[in-house]
Order: sequence, then C-alpha cells, then structure tokens
Amino acid sequence: MQDLKLYNTLSRKKESFVPLKEGRVGMYVCGPTVYGDAHLGHARPGITFDVVYRYLQHLGFKTRYVRNITDVGHLVNDAEEGEDKIAKKARLDQLEPMEVVAHYTRNYHRDMAMLNTLSPSIEPTATGHIIEQIQMIEKILNNGYAYNVSGNVYFDVVKYNENHAYGKLSGRNIEDMVSNTRELDGQSEKRNSVDFALWKKASKKHIMRWPSPWSDGFPGWHLECSAMSTKYLGEKFDIHGGGMDLVFPHHEAEIAQSCASDGKETVNYWMHNNMITINGQKMGKSLGNFITLEEFFSGSHKNLDQAYQPMTIRFFILQAHYRSTVDFSNEALQAAEKGYNKLMTAIKTLKEIIPSKTTSIDVSFYKSKFYEAINDDFNTPVLIAHLFEAVKQINSIAAGQGTLDDKSKSELLTLMSEFCYVILGFESIPVKSQEGLTEEVMGLVLGLRKLAKDNRDWSTADFIRDELAKLNITVTDGKDGANWSKK
Ligand code: ZN
Repeated sequence: MQDLKLYNTLSRKKESFVPLKEGRVGMYVCGPTVYGDAHLGHARPGITFDVVYRYLQHLGFKTRYVRNITDVGHLVNDAEEGEDKIAKKARLDQLEPMEVVAHYTRNYHRDMAMLNTLSPSIEPTATGHIIEQIQMIEKILNNGYAYNVSGNVYFDVVKYNENHAYGKLSGRNIEDMVSNTRELDGQSEKRNSVDFALWKKASKKHIMRWPSPWSDGFPGWHLECSAMSTKYLGEKFDIHGGGMDLVFPHHEAEIAQSCASDGKETVNYWMHNNMITINGQKMGKSLGNFITLEEFFSGSHKNLDQAYQPMTIRFFILQAHYRSTVDFSNEALQAAEKGYNKLMTAIKTLKEIIPSKTTSIDVSFYKSKFYEAINDDFNTPVLIAHLFEAVKQINSIAAGQGTLDDKSKSELLTLMSEFCYVILGFESIPVKSQEGLTEEVMGLVLGLRKLAKDNRDWSTADFIRDELAKLNITVTDGKDGANWSKK
C-alpha cells in the first residue's frame, strides 16, 4: 500500500501518516453541542471523519475513535459571556437541560445513522467528566497559567505565551489580538481580553452546576475536549479532527490547556474540514437558510425542491475535498443524486456482465488510482472521478464494447465494493450480504417445515409450502431433504 498523507493544520503541509503505536490509531473529533437538530454543517464532519475512520480500519489499524457530546459549557455565540446554549434552549422550551440533551442526542444519532456513519468507539459527555476537568484546572493553576477571580477561573494566555506559542495552530498573533481588544480591558475581570474561562461560577438561577474548589459552577467549553481526549486516548494521540471554525479559539485553547497542565502537546495531526455554504451564503438561523438533515430527508423545508436520500447528501459531501468549501443548492444535490445512482447502477451492471475468455479492463490500474487518490489526504473527489472512469468502462463492456474475464470481473467487483461500500460508506447493506441472509432465512423456514413434518403436523408443513408458493418459491422434497428455488 502506498503511504497515507494527511494535511496537518499545525505544520500547514501534507505529512506521511505514522501512528504513535504500530498498528493502532487514536482519533478524537469534536462532536455536536446538543441544543438543536443536526444540519448540513454537522453532516460534513460526521461524514469526513467517518471516511477517515473507515479507511484507517480498512488499512488494518485498530482505531479508537472518540467523539464527544457537548452538553454543558458552550455559551451562546461561542463567547466567554452569555447564557449556556443548552440552558437557554431548556428555558425557552420549559424543559430540564438534560431533556434537551437527551432529545437532541437521540436525533443526532438517528441522522448520523441515516447517513451511514459508523458509531464512534467512545462518545463521552462533558457533564460525565466534570471531575477530570476540575483536576485539569488544578494542574493548570498549580503551574501558574490560570487565575481565580471570585470563583471564576481564567486561563492566562499572556503568561502562557511567555513560554509557549499561543496562536501556532491558527496562525494568529497574540500581540495583535491583545492590542485590537485593549479598549475592552478594564470592563472585564479578566487580566486580558484574550484569556478564556476554565471554570465559571454559576448564577443563582443557573441549573447546571457542580461543586468545585473555586465555586459552584460549570466548566468552560474548551476544557472538556482536552480532558476527555487524553482520558481515552492517552497523553499523546494521533489525530484530532473538527470543523475549521473550531481552529480558533477552541483548538488553540485545547493545545494551550494541555501544554499548561502536562507540559506537552497531545496531538500529532490536526485535521479540519471546511464549511458548507447555502447558495453562496453562510448558514444561519437568522438568514432563514438553515435546513436540518431531517428536512432534507423529508423535503419539508421551503427552500428544497424535493426530498433527498441520505446517500445523496453523503455523495454530495464526498464529491468535494474535505478542506474545500461546499456550496449547497438544489441543482448541486440533484446532480449528486444522478451521480450516485449512476455509480450504484454500474455496480449492478458489472454483476450481470457475462464473463468472456478475454478482458479489456486492467483492474490493477484502477486499484492503484483509487488508493493514490485516497492516500493523498483523503482526496475523495479525485477518487470518485476514478470510480466514474471505471463506470464508463463497465457500461461500454455491458454495451458490447470490450470484454471481461471471470477473474477481472470478480477483482473489479471486489475493488468497487470495497471503495464504494466499505470506505466511502455508500449504501448501508451491500447486496452480497442480503443474498447470504436469504439463504439463512430460507434454511430456517425449511428447518421449521421439517420439524412440523417430523411431528406429523401436516397442516403446518403444507401451510409453509403454500405460503412460499405465493412468493413464487417452490419447495421440492428430495432424499437429502427439501430444496427451494425462486421463479
Ligand atoms: Zn472540542
């Protein structure tokens, strides 16, 4: 296998992927804040890192994929001040915060399953890891990189930057950040406007609160990912993923928290997916162009011309490289629908081609092209283009131009199935395993009929035979038992 290259946001270049431990990979991806239904913006990291996870497993790496659920601490507008997103939703809907969390977590899982993304190995929640977060704050305080102001604990970015490079991931310059926001200083209890909260004291009305050495309160948003990634993947792990909008401040803060508590960086490769725009505009609730995945699947949003199959959405997202922007429009999704159907039809066509003695397809050529594309920083648009070159050749052979021998047919079918189903995750159940299932179910049915006959229960035995006949399945009794065939 050629070597897998990943674009590392930290080094700003493609690097060869070498895991820390041979044969194993640890990957952490920032998951959703569960206060609303999942939309296209959630589908993109969900699908992007699903393909990464699938491909790493395909390469034989034992992969532990950790994706968190943010259920506390993420404040409105991603800001340092303001209401907790979940607490606000709970207040508006007159629900318990955990009712909001349970409802939207379930919906998120449902939508991700529709998109055929595999479940992560571990899905930790922020509220389930308060103790770990408090311990991390204590370490940061002991190392002198945080301060407590009346029950609120802040990360001291300026102090940290004396010994480390704050801004190295996002390429931001801390002096610029400090001078641009200087006017605001003095209005805040923070030493510098760039400092961020590790722990916030809860107001009297705030429901989501936990005791801590500093105050009854709740953790800052950035902290959970530092605490949970290292808990499940160790002090150093391979891949950290998320959307590009998380590079600053979220991931920058994660690096700072880890270095400030343990003295070292935890992540080897930082991977970020780009954003989705809708007809060239940013998605936003206030812009009215905010379409949930459920609305896509049902076609119920006013901006949609029709309902779209989950696989159309998946194909549409993978048609672009994960680091490029994707612009949604009905036209683009309809084109994706056509493309996806053409690809799936070609696999069926390939199965039906009657093999000849000669072959005009060089399967190894496609194999190396497919791997070359995916190994090049998960270049799925190039991979899909190569899949379509194979589709073109399959269709011409089916039309009588060219031939395929038995060996090439089965190799090409395996290759196409591996890339389409196993790696790109198109279609949840490959036809092959359904065929296997029919055999198993029919074995069970004929077993029941034999049991009935052995018990001289002729009416049940006849009932089974007659019901199968209605499905055009003929049962014939021979001396080695019953056989079945379908007309
Ligand atoms: Zn995160």
